[in-house]
Amino acid sequence: MVRIALIGCTGSIGRQTADIVRRYPDRFRFSALACGGAGETLSALCREFQPAYALCAAGTFDAPAGVQALPAGEEGALFRDCDVALIAAGGFAGLRYTLLAAEAGVRIALANKESLVCGGELVLRAVREHGAELVPVDSEHSAIFQCLSFRRDAAFPRLVLTASGGPFLHCSAEELARVRAKDALRHPTWKMGAKITVDSATLLNKGYEVIEANRLYGAPFEKIEAVVHPESIVHSLVYFADGAALAQLGYPDMRVPIQLALTYPERLPCEPPLDLAAVGKLTFLPFPREKFPCFDLAVGAGRAGGTLPTVLNAAAEEAVYAFLGDSITFPAIAHTIEDTLAAFPREEADSFGRLSETDARARAYAHRLIYGKSAS
Ligand code: MG
Repeated sequence: MVRIALIGCTGSIGRQTADIVRRYPDRFRFSALACGGAGETLSALCREFQPAYALCAAGTFDAPAGVQALPAGEEGALFRDCDVALIAAGGFAGLRYTLLAAEAGVRIALANKESLVCGGELVLRAVREHGAELVPVDSEHSAIFQCLSFRRDAAFPRLVLTASGGPFLHCSAEELARVRAKDALRHPTWKMGAKITVDSATLLNKGYEVIEANRLYGAPFEKIEAVVHPESIVHSLVYFADGAALAQLGYPDMRVPIQLALTYPERLPCEPPLDLAAVGKLTFLPFPREKFPCFDLAVGAGRAGGTLPTVLNAAAEEAVYAFLGDSITFPAIAHTIEDTLAAFPREEADSFGRLSETDARARAYAHRLIYGKSAS
């Protein structure tokens, strides 16, 4: 029985994890459930799964008998009595949970990209010091993990991340200036939350995944490439010294990497298996980095390291939510990130406090850029 502490139980990854636990009740159970503000959903999940602990970070919920409601400040208790901490909370907020899970010395199934993008150095150090284990849930990094036979320290000359290209792959610059949030939310292959769906449209998400690959596998940035693959069947590739490339293929279905992070190296059935003849053809295109500047902004901040990825992410979160609210245009997302990055010097990412303080200042700065001084 794998005991799971699920952080972010009401989001897209959280709901799919609950489906997996429902499907394999004799294999998995929730030891803890936590969410941001959706208290009613958390109450219902607590009644269904009876975890030992539950926490609602920004709201209230009804804890049924037998479920201990944890107050703010006691998040570390979520990782008592668990085998795997599945961190599926969104945004910078996920980093704190990842650090607490690392301190608890458990396996961390990581679905929160910002933990490695913003706090990579801190997370890797905490994982090492406390004997924890880091397993990727992001489909690209799960694919690489599989191609490397579940090793994070293997030698390889090159990684290639695949990208669907998002809904605006074939738009001209003029068309990009006119697209709206509702257009960005129509992702061609993956069903995900709103923030990451927009990040897939700007290709910021792929920039984040380059940083994740660098932190997770120690791959130098110049050995990590991206290629557009609109069908999202090949989830990423590893090239070896002899030029051989290994890839992992499957339908775009997050239940596969979630489930594998919980059970690897064992695999459990997940329907339907890939039908290549039904897929027909797989296509690949050069990565359009000139048209989508968010990718290079992210990779540049990742290379610089320190507090700059946190500045990047804070500006991106503010800009994307402003775009979702139709307050700024699509190209203004990249402009907001670029202008915010230019205003912050790099500092060492030596503590969570430093990152948290940088995050708050960068958000306030981006907010002023977007809405003007009076609104912040
Ligand atoms: Mg991904």
